[in-house]
Amino acid sequence: MGHTGQKELRKQTDPLYALRHSAAHIMAQAVRRLHPESKLAIGPPIEDGFYYDLELPAALTEESLGAIEAEMRKIVEEDHPFVRSSMSKDEALAFFRERNERYKLEIIEGIPDASVSLYTDGEFVDLCEGPHVASTGQVRAFKLLSLAGAYWRGDERRPQLQRVYGTAFLTQEDLDRHLHRLEEAKRRDHRKLGTALELFSIEEAAGPGLIFWHPKGALVRTLMEDWLRRELLARGYDLVYTPHIMREELWQTSGHTSFYRDNMFAPIEVETAQYQLKPMNCPGHILIYKSRLRSYRELPVRLAELGTVYRYERSGVLHGLMRVRGFTQDDAHIFCRPDHIEAEVEGCIRFAWETLRAFGFDDYVVELSDWDEGEAAHYAGNPEDWRRATDALTSTLERLKVPYTLMKGEAAFYGPKIDVKLIDAIGRAWQLTTVQFDFNLPARFNLEYIDEEGKPQRPLMVHRALWGSVERFFGVLLEHYAGALPAWLAPVQVAVIPVSEAVHGYARAIAEALRARGLRASVDERNERMQAKIRDAQLQQVPYMAVVGKREAEAGTVAVRHRREGDLGAMAAADLASRVIEDKHEVDHTD
Ligand code: ZN
Repeated sequence: MGHTGQKELRKQTDPLYALRHSAAHIMAQAVRRLHPESKLAIGPPIEDGFYYDLELPAALTEESLGAIEAEMRKIVEEDHPFVRSSMSKDEALAFFRERNERYKLEIIEGIPDASVSLYTDGEFVDLCEGPHVASTGQVRAFKLLSLAGAYWRGDERRPQLQRVYGTAFLTQEDLDRHLHRLEEAKRRDHRKLGTALELFSIEEAAGPGLIFWHPKGALVRTLMEDWLRRELLARGYDLVYTPHIMREELWQTSGHTSFYRDNMFAPIEVETAQYQLKPMNCPGHILIYKSRLRSYRELPVRLAELGTVYRYERSGVLHGLMRVRGFTQDDAHIFCRPDHIEAEVEGCIRFAWETLRAFGFDDYVVELSDWDEGEAAHYAGNPEDWRRATDALTSTLERLKVPYTLMKGEAAFYGPKIDVKLIDAIGRAWQLTTVQFDFNLPARFNLEYIDEEGKPQRPLMVHRALWGSVERFFGVLLEHYAGALPAWLAPVQVAVIPVSEAVHGYARAIAEALRARGLRASVDERNERMQAKIRDAQLQQVPYMAVVGKREAEAGTVAVRHRREGDLGAMAAADLASRVIEDKHEVDHTD
């Protein structure tokens, strides 16, 4: 059941699969009892639960979820066994036609086999491959979560169905932990934080999936990018910029117009030529590499760009900063000789580590995706390339003692890769970093360097991104820190709070002194009570507050409050500055 936009569980290996799939049947059964005229579409288990798509004459509401859940409890108490049976396709068509289940009819028609299997529990029968738990009584720990609209087969020209999401776990404890995590995720939702902290917005007038960075968000982004550019230069990368539109022919050479067309915006005609808005930076970097003859001596060439790309994502999948139509990749392409690849892979992995550490993540998982040798014809590059590149990836991970999972046959057709998923403060994994070999583009663009003997050779090419995209990484940071960005990234590091108008001058002088030390300080001169100013600074997640009254003005100090630690006592502005500069990450692991 593809195109659900949700990662599905592995059928045979995960006990949650059978449990959640059974819960989906029980849910559909409960809906049928309450609304006999409803029609069933599909109801798969997914990574965090299950859903069922249904056609109903009236829209379900939050209250209907409670009623459905109550009916589900009855079905669980009735403890009906799940019984498997099979029918010929004709029998099954007649069976579901009689019940007026038009979506089931369409599914059956698409099944190539001569017979289909069904599962029955009590009065409820569903077209289903299984497996299921033994009986409805085993589905104890479940909860319905939300409602959404979903088009039949994901096609906006087909009827819109109502999707009911729920989840089920093997134990109540697991369920409670999951529900707690959902609450935490809600509290940390970067879209809400983005508005509350005035960081970014998406403007309907401009179009969906396009991000407006407001002053505070743009400031954080600038600080992130400054960090990255400094690191890139220190690690021997060259910074480049490439155009946002380039000739259509270039994208034919790269193969994007054949393999990536669905994700690209339509071409733009300029003076009889077609131009393409770039969905990737690779061809641009390749043109820089190719702009002159390259000697073996100047390799590796590492070209890096904070490159803005545009991809046509369907409106239904857009999500805050995480899934957008225009975004900036922290992209780089490394062109190197075969004898470089160990060192280059190690360089990428060390850089990825340093990035995680610098931004306050201490946990991650690594996946190594290799090819399927038996299917060599479907891949670019020769076995020698693949072996050498995969060996370099494997031996580097092993030398650096990085645990990883080998994903056999999961590589892209053009080369093996390492993906790093970081784990955030509430245990969620985010796919960000990727280090990927490419045996395809160097051949398509006929890339060369001149070796020691004066002969042309083909360089190896590696694509690598650490954050993936600036937007996505920023969204992950916001959720990881629940908006309380570490002091070095906070848009305002110190809020200076005068307790009365008499000390406004002193407050301004303090802010000036802090700014002179390179800090970002603001003065709250509003005509509000001190407590209100402290509360607002706290809500804005400002790490430090410097409260100043007559006493502080006379003593030449400030009364310092930290957003989490509270009162830190009186100190000189210079001491506060040192403390802010030395402040390390503080991650809120509420879980
Ligand atoms: Zn690339």
